[in-house]
Amino acid sequence: MKAFTYKRATTPAEAAAAAARTPGARFIAGGTNLLDLMKLEIETPAHLVDVNSLALDRIEATPDGGLRVGALVRNTDLAADARVRRDYAVLSRALLSGASGQLRNKATTAGNLLQRTRCYYFYDTNMPCNKRQPGSGCSAIGGFSRHHAVVGASEACIATYPGDMAVAMRVLDAQIETVRPDGGMRTIPIADFHRLPGATPHVEHALEPGELITHVKLPRPPGGAQVYRKVRDRSSYAFALVSVAAIVQPDGSGRVALGGVAHKPWRVEAAEQQIRSGARAVADGLLAGARTTEYNAFKIALVQRTLAAVLADTKKA
Ligand SMILES: Cc1cc2nc3c(=O)[nH]c(=O)nc-3n(C[C@H](O)[C@H](O)[C@H](O)COP(=O)(O)OP(=O)(O)OC[C@H]3O[C@@H](n4cnc5c(N)ncnc54)[C@H](O)[C@@H]3O)c2cc1C
Ligand code: SF4
Repeated sequence: MKAFTYKRATTPAEAAAAAARTPGARFIAGGTNLLDLMKLEIETPAHLVDVNSLALDRIEATPDGGLRVGALVRNTDLAADARVRRDYAVLSRALLSGASGQLRNKATTAGNLLQRTRCYYFYDTNMPCNKRQPGSGCSAIGGFSRHHAVVGASEACIATYPGDMAVAMRVLDAQIETVRPDGGMRTIPIADFHRLPGATPHVEHALEPGELITHVKLPRPPGGAQVYRKVRDRSSYAFALVSVAAIVQPDGSGRVALGGVAHKPWRVEAAEQQIRSGARAVADGLLAGARTTEYNAFKIALVQRTLAAVLADTKKA
């Protein structure tokens, strides 16, 4: 691991300003992703700003009937919160399908949103990777690509966003609140937070250097039957091959987002108009323009079948 300096911040504004002062600085929260990347020298920050002392570990009710989740709320606590379990079941289920109990005890809401891809070549520093080293090439294109994207990919990168929580937050239309190094605050809809790879796969999200996530806002409860289903190689401690988050209302209208298929949680609002027509029609809309490889072509049928199972589950819920 490369040497780095370390400072514990006490206020969000101080944390953002401190991170912006040192080029290449990173925030550290639970450390469950960042420390692994540092040990492998995939990330080599010169300075770490520890955000664990910021008072951002509460889940508060908002005046419009929603919830405001602090950036440091641990995944375990968010999944177990009685309001989340009752009103945002899709989120609680997505969180509980992720990682392991020990990891969820450390992992934070902000860190989870910002976890990096699990592309094998991104982790193998002997192999070219445009995300790790811009301009070096993509080893997954023409390589082993079982976990890789089938929609929204580019000639530069076919990696997927690996997380579960953000897929549920996408279907819930969550908003991400931040503080910038100059002390200014802004709100980013989750739809605009994660980016597609395009020609710059190393640029993964909408945050500016030094910009700190302070909260995630959940709009008032959407009601309906809420389901999260994750298909993976093992029943625990494995990332999604495909996941589906769905909220379906009694009148048959609804929302659907996919995990494991793109560089960001994948939602196509127009496809949701087809929910009453059945899973195949929704899947066709979600996966329009899909491009597969010999290793990940199975994801098309897997999305269709998982979506069918999820829509059936929403009728039972
Ligand atoms: C073995 C293993 C299995 C896993 N399986 C799953 C899984 O199945 N599903 C799943 O969803 N996840 C899984 N994960 C990922 C895990 O959920 C993430 O590592 C975790 O959520 C990251 O949170 P953290 O607080 O530890 O982040 P950290 O590692 O501390 O930080 C991650 C990134 O977020 C940035 N960051 C942290 N806080 C802020 C902030 N407030 N504002 C701006 N930037 C910030 C950091 O600078 C860093 O770039 C797995 C991880 C491991 C190690
Ligand atoms: S898919 Fe993306 S992360 Fe994986 S090797 Fe290619 S450029 Fe790197």
